[in-house]
Amino acid sequence: MFRIPQDARLVSEGGNAKTGYMRIEAENYFFELKWEEAQPKKVKPLSEVVEAFIKRLEKETKQKIPIRAKRVAKIFEHDGLFLSLRSNMEERIFFWYCAESPRVVILRFAFKAIDTTSRTIMRQMLTSLKCHGEGIDVWTLFESSFRAPPSFQLSERKMVVGRTYLLLLDHKLTPFAERKKEIVFEYFSMANVQFEEEHKDLDRWVDKRYMKDLKKRCRGVKFQSSMQEKVNNHAAVIKKGAGRSGILTRRSSSYSNATWYCEDLNRIYSVTISEHIARPLPLKRKIDEGAFGDFFRGFVSTIKCH
Ligand SMILES: [Zn+2]
Ligand SMILES: [Zn+2]
Repeated sequence: MFRIPQDARLVSEGGNAKTGYMRIEAENYFFELKWEEAQPKKVKPLSEVVEAFIKRLEKETKQKIPIRAKRVAKIFEHDGLFLSLRSNMEERIFFWYCAESPRVVILRFAFKAIDTTSRTIMRQMLTSLKCHGEGIDVWTLFESSFRAPPSFQLSERKMVVGRTYLLLLDHKLTPFAERKKEIVFEYFSMANVQFEEEHKDLDRWVDKRYMKDLKKRCRGVKFQSSMQEKVNNHAAVIKKGAGRSGILTRRSSSYSNATWYCEDLNRIYSVTISEHIARPLPLKRKIDEGAFGDFFRGFVSTIKCH
């Protein structure tokens, strides 16, 4: 599991387990994680990686960046380098080589100011991040990728054996209405072992193995229709549903789900998008079904599952 502070949001991620990056931003800081595969015999010395990093940073910020402190450091049991410098921000950067993965990793923190809060954030990030091991770790997720609009915040990210789950949330509150969009992105690994029979029959898998859990994450979810479509070249079932609830404050909800089996990684993916609008009576509330459908399709089309 990988914890990020509540006010932070994942703004970009890309690549895969071998080479990739992610960037998380909040009002007063951002951090970046970059990794690149490096075979044991061809590993560049970290000092070269640092040099290239500084050069790029100087180019980006169009200024000379003096290094304030540079020292060796142990990071997740690996020998690494720690750098402290000032660009437009206060930066604390860790470089290391992980022979187990094997990859070179750069973890960069940039704060408007270094204070108790920023130190806490840094410590929490470092303790919640796993570099390697156990077969399932933070990088595993990056074998798949998708893009969500920046208004969505990553609100939960969980990884347990056999299962990875992300929740992204877009929440708008106005005096007379509350509008919420949620994306539940989830996959189950070793699908042909975990779901020996059901992985071949996705309608059945959703009903028997998934719906109960999904209801915990996505209250009131129900589907009224199901059809076949392709997602990332796999046969997928697409489900749609709508619901209404509440007496004094009326809530309308729309749901769409895509579920497919990815033979390449032996995973079942299930993605659910929901939109909720709540308004006090007698105000009208209506979800624009056309726009909701377009949003769902648009999001699903950005998914690369393998
Ligand atoms: Zn490692
Ligand atoms: Zn796939």
